[in-house]
Amino acid sequence: MPNFVSKTLDDPTYWRSIILFGRNVASYKFALARSLAEVANVRNDLIKMEDLAEPFARHLCQHIKEVPVQSTSQSSKFLEACRQFNAQQITETDLRDTTVRLGFNNVIDAFHIVNGDEVPTRFFLDERKTLGGIRLTDACHDLLLGDEGQTLVEEIQSRWRLVETAWELNINRNLISVQHDTSSHILFVDQGNRRVDVTSARDALNGYQKGHCFFCFRPISLTQANLLPDVDHFFPHVLGSYLSHTNFNGVWNLTLSCMECNRGEAGKFAKLPSLKLLERLHTRNEFLITSHHPLRETLIRQTGNKLQDRIGFLQFQHTEAKGILIHEWEPEQRGPELF
Ligand SMILES: [Zn+2]
Repeated sequence: MPNFVSKTLDDPTYWRSIILFGRNVASYKFALARSLAEVANVRNDLIKMEDLAEPFARHLCQHIKEVPVQSTSQSSKFLEACRQFNAQQITETDLRDTTVRLGFNNVIDAFHIVNGDEVPTRFFLDERKTLGGIRLTDACHDLLLGDEGQTLVEEIQSRWRLVETAWELNINRNLISVQHDTSSHILFVDQGNRRVDVTSARDALNGYQKGHCFFCFRPISLTQANLLPDVDHFFPHVLGSYLSHTNFNGVWNLTLSCMECNRGEAGKFAKLPSLKLLERLHTRNEFLITSHHPLRETLIRQTGNKLQDRIGFLQFQHTEAKGILIHEWEPEQRGPELF
């Protein structure tokens, strides 16, 4: 069995996952991140909301001037105030007051949430109720004032521009393939990344799984409607928007999953399967290859000629995916381990 390892996550990775990943229904997250980078220059732990309001509103006003659409929702009183300020209809004081009152709805609470859960590092603590501000943590100072600080700020800006491009063109974010070059940290767009229909893979995959969910071993059935499995992307297909060099629709990445595991209450969704599950995927792919299954050539083409190449391929995907998805997932076992 190969010794797969899980990428060790650090604060820059958490920060990048906040900026990169997310629903992006509005640009507040980017404005807040830019503002944090500005106020972190002053080593003054508690940032009052009225002091945060100035850079926060300024960044949004600047962006609104160039791209009027800054949210996918129809109306926002706060964004309207930014427009009025740009049109010199309200004063800077009016704008600051409106920002303190309405500008931070949700964004402070949601900032640390990536892929459904909080990242383990907090870059600020919410002390609005007790002290009327947020407290920047040491992690925030170290990150934004450190060697990588300037690069991280530029990344916020490029991601913001990318999301604006999507809004301007009125296209779904998932249809924009974004490549994040991990060495140069350049992001670029490649349109036309579409989800390919994979349901025809059901029969082939069910033979190996012997009528059981790949993840929890609960019974599944291709003929009983209530036990019909989902064709699941082991590495969530949303990754295609970030790592466009990998074909996540390839059969190497497909399993049959019960509905609970795929999208139930404690389901996988866009989380990353654990190393134990990665080993299970590796074992499955190797079994199909060594048993001269009809999918053998396809799997070899997709993952590598030699065993070591294929191990390296899966390890690489796991490492890359972890830096984006952050949270690992493993379900409770619902039956004997069959494969
Ligand atoms: Zn399951």
